Amino acid sequence: MDLQECGTFAAYRRHLKANEAPCDPCKEAARRQKSERDAKKRAESGEAVGVALRLEPTDDAVDALEEARDNLRIIRAALKSNPPHNTIAALTKRREEVVDRIKAIEADSGGVDEIDAIISDLAGWSSSRASGA
Ligand SMILES: [Zn+2]
Repeated sequence: MDLQECGTFAAYRRHLKANEAPCDPCKEAARRQKSERDAKKRAESGEAVGVALRLEPTDDAVDALEEARDNLRIIRAALKSNPPHNTIAALTKRREEVVDRIKAIEADSGGVDEIDAIISDLAGWSSSRASGA
């Protein structure tokens, strides 16, 4: 059987099995393996949340509304925190849209996809702000 070289997760496990302290490349490989596994788990739980949200019966509208109100609070807070001048127009426009969506959710329970769109837009806004755009 082929032995995996040091710096692989298999070699890391071989060290442990042989009751040896893993060498640095193997420890690094184990760290990498763990962080990849954690990232995969996070992605899966994110997907699971999305699926669960869509499978919820219509009384989930209360949560969607709560989310929209939360987003409104976030936008208000952002506006009060002296945001970069060039983001104010976008934020106030976004605030109007969230208010409209809250009204729409209050009128009709099917607002989950709209809320997803708001969340991803806000995420995009904050990352472009962080990068100095
Ligand atoms: Zn090793």
